[in-house]
Amino acid sequence: MSGRKNREADGEIKRERIRVCVIGAGAAGLCSVRHLASDLQKFEPAVFEQCDVIGGTWVYTEKVGFHNGLPIHSSMYKDLKTNIPLKLMNFPDFQRMNQSQPSCGTHQQILKYLQDYADHFNLCQYIQFNTRVENVLPITEDDNWHETTWKVTIKNILTQKTEDKYFDAILVCNGHYVDPIIPSISGIETFSGDLMHSHDYRTPEKYTGKTVLILGSGPSGIDIGIEITHYANHVYLSHNRDRLISPLPSNMTETMGVEFINGNDFHLKDGTTVTADAFLLCTGYKYSFPFLNETCKVKVINGNHVTPLYKHLINIQHPKMAIVGVPSRVIPFPMFHMQIQYFLSILLGETNLPSQEKMSEELVSQTSKYPHAFEPGYQWEYNDWLASEAKIEKLPEFYKYGYSEWTTKRATNLLKYKNSTIVIEEDGKTVRFII
Ligand SMILES: Cc1cc2nc3c(=O)[nH]c(=O)nc-3n(C[C@H](O)[C@H](O)[C@H](O)COP(=O)(O)OP(=O)(O)OC[C@H]3O[C@@H](n4cnc5c(N)ncnc54)[C@H](O)[C@@H]3O)c2cc1C
Repeated sequence: MSGRKNREADGEIKRERIRVCVIGAGAAGLCSVRHLASDLQKFEPAVFEQCDVIGGTWVYTEKVGFHNGLPIHSSMYKDLKTNIPLKLMNFPDFQRMNQSQPSCGTHQQILKYLQDYADHFNLCQYIQFNTRVENVLPITEDDNWHETTWKVTIKNILTQKTEDKYFDAILVCNGHYVDPIIPSISGIETFSGDLMHSHDYRTPEKYTGKTVLILGSGPSGIDIGIEITHYANHVYLSHNRDRLISPLPSNMTETMGVEFINGNDFHLKDGTTVTADAFLLCTGYKYSFPFLNETCKVKVINGNHVTPLYKHLINIQHPKMAIVGVPSRVIPFPMFHMQIQYFLSILLGETNLPSQEKMSEELVSQTSKYPHAFEPGYQWEYNDWLASEAKIEKLPEFYKYGYSEWTTKRATNLLKYKNSTIVIEEDGKTVRFII
């Protein structure tokens, strides 16, 4: 794959730089432009960010709903502590989060880290702020995806002016924790108490003295549930997954998922009933790409399956487009680092993609409920594969061993794991947590 051709005065064909559009300046967008900017002989990066700052989901705001005509992007809450140790969240080429105790940190620390990353690699010069990508349209000559050009329509949020720009490749980095999943539960309209999705959760005080039913036992359900127990009278953690093995606060009870609701009574899947006066949906988020024109041929099935993606990353119909950060149950920042370099090596023609037919044969199917949720351990195989294809360094081993040790500690001690001490031994591999 190569950049645009430009005939020079002397008749020689010269390759111009590859124009790459990055949508979003959260961690993934910053990582994209960090790697693009490291080879400005070959790449011409342009990042469009709808907000006026970098950091994406790590930019905490008390606001919910809309701001400046845009839906609030961040799902952060005030006292969030990361659910991955800071040392394991570092990008491998910028290991500045060195805090050992507590192993986890605040959203302020992550935002500061991303700002430091952007300053260190001098990235803000490539970012156009207050600029929302409204439409991405592939223009393909002779059905040859190698020659695709992209027309990107951007809108200045402050002036409302729109403009078209042209690119050779697209890195979609718009974040995947924005568009809440609201389950349809029979009788939900009869519930007159406080009903909210975790996207809008900021602080626990409003639950003081209440009985709260939290639906969903993913990281948000568990973490927010535990936070609320300090204020609420009682918290029910309602879900259909395997039962938790960790001790829980004395005023927190695990129950089955909700079958139907009648007023303040929640009828559960095991036939029991609990009564609650607040209902908090920690039911996750849909993948959403409202700016991708239908001719991009990216579909989102059931909110949780983005297709057709090769290796959960490359749009098989238009392989000069990558969607970063689709896999879940991973350490995101180091994975972004690998995904982006793999895609850039394809753009440079240093790594070859299989034919579109071959890539389609490997498509993940919708048989699993969460087709992009990686099985334990698979992220390391995936990251190593990206590294070997792109001929780049693998991730240092402590990520893998640390994450494995971490998930065990977390499962067995949900109340204390974030305050543990992380110790990375001198072999650069073995990681211990002291609780
Ligand atoms: C509550 C919560 C807790 C989390 N905790 C952790 C944790 O402890 N550890 C961890 O590693 N990860 C955690 N994550 C995951 C986190 O989302 C990722 O680590 C990572 O920050 C995602 O980065 P991103 O760049 O993909 O997306 P985002 O950070 O969401 O950034 C996307 C950016 O794209 C911009 N954008 C979107 N659409 C457009 C458009 N059309 N035009 C222009 N700009 C656009 C947005 O404004 C935003 O700035 C958590 C997520 C949530 C929601």
